[in-house]
Amino acid sequence: MSEITLSGLEKRYGDTLAVEDVSVTIDDGELLCLLGPSGSGKSTTLRMLAGLETPTDGTIHIGDEDVTDRPAYERTTATVFQDWALFPHKTVIENVAFGLKMEGVGKTERRERARGMLERVRMESHADENPMNLSGGQKQRVALARALAVNPDVLLLDEPLSNLDKRLSEDMQIELREIHEEFEETFVHVTHDQDEAFTLADRIGIMAEGNLVQVGEPDEVYENP
Ligand code: ADP
Ligand code: ADP
Repeated sequence: MSEITLSGLEKRYGDTLAVEDVSVTIDDGELLCLLGPSGSGKSTTLRMLAGLETPTDGTIHIGDEDVTDRPAYERTTATVFQDWALFPHKTVIENVAFGLKMEGVGKTERRERARGMLERVRMESHADENPMNLSGGQKQRVALARALAVNPDVLLLDEPLSNLDKRLSEDMQIELREIHEEFEETFVHVTHDQDEAFTLADRIGIMAEGNLVQVGEPDEVYENP
């Protein structure tokens, strides 16, 4: 069970109210896009979900557990970042296997599972390469494989497509949607791109000035902006 409940979530940085009041329940297996302009608090909300920031008020539940004060490594979330954040001194397959190593999975199983994930994102032929030599789209596939390899309950995606050109981004949107349907995990996807949100989302949450101002299916949100 990986339903997520955010209640009265707030994050202050000194005088800056990055997130003012975010409350929403994200269904198990849902793909929710947080959509809004730069500075509206999307990324801060996602970072709190990931355990990379501690809220100044409010709570986060994943399933039945209150994870508000749990660090990232104690959560069943995995994150894909805009800049991919791949380890430059590890090969592609070592990158994908890294989280499994941290979980204590043995070497043979690690390799097998990492290779399976690389096949899923069609990157198996690059397994032994240095990730820095890959194109943006290829890096994104590896980052996605690395995040999914640990079987997270919740996948968090922070503007993962915004460093790709438009065509590649559109291709990746279709792939992400397929992967979401296949893995049946809860995805929370941050973007400032309306078309991307419309293509991907089961529901869209509109963020403005630190608040979640509207949540609904794409058609509802677009008809009543
Ligand atoms: P978005 O992801 O929608 O672009 P962010 O969550 O990154 O928005 O930022 C929301 C607001 O909080 C912005 O005004 C931003 O400058 C501020 N902010 C974000 N992170 C920090 C931080 N670490 N320190 C200070 N201010 C921050
Ligand atoms: P995003 O919009 O994706 O959050 P930003 O460029 O706004 O990207 O932020 C990148 C990083 O800088 C994040 O870790 C964020 O927390 C931090 N940050 C953003 N705004 C500020 C700020 N005003 N002061 C300090 N850190 C900030």
